[in-house]
Amino acid sequence: MNVSRVGVYPGSFDPVTNGHIDIISRARTLVDRLIVGVAVNTGKSPLFSYDERVEMLEAELSDLEDAAGLASIDVRPINGLLVAFAKECGAGVVVRGLRAVSDFDYEFQMAGMNARMEPDVETVFLMASERHTFISSRLVKEVALLGGDFSSFVPERVGRRLIRAIS
Ligand code: ADP
Repeated sequence: MNVSRVGVYPGSFDPVTNGHIDIISRARTLVDRLIVGVAVNTGKSPLFSYDERVEMLEAELSDLEDAAGLASIDVRPINGLLVAFAKECGAGVVVRGLRAVSDFDYEFQMAGMNARMEPDVETVFLMASERHTFISSRLVKEVALLGGDFSSFVPERVGRRLIRAIS
């Protein structure tokens, strides 16, 4: 039987960081097709619009290798419930990144609630790579606003967009 395994990696990506790219690169080795779901409404007030967040993501993803055996990657909007989105995409797996213990509480609750709502969708956690453990979109924006050097946290193009957005 040849079943294609679809995974969803959801987030706000405001903006996409090197930590996100790392999770995407690793997640795509685990599934046949990876859908990066971008939250249209983030619940926080985003620095970048939905279109800008998608544009930055797509630019970075187009740089990722398209080797045989690697999952294709698509970017799609998430408008409502994550589990509903996963079902719509035909995904059996939701991928989340775990940085520190501080992520755990929220992720644990979300995975539990999602499992109750949709038992067919499994949440899989990838540990942040050691050099990306401390990177978060929120802190990158804070560092940028305070005039700090954020160049090792985000791709170069994203860094340029950040400078424009805050100036
Ligand atoms: P959200 O608003 O849902 O937290 P984010 O865009 O901040 O969305 O993050 C999406 C996912 O990526 C989350 O699972 C988050 O834990 C994970 N993530 C964010 N930054 C990193 C990082 N530096 N390393 C690994 N995972 C990360």
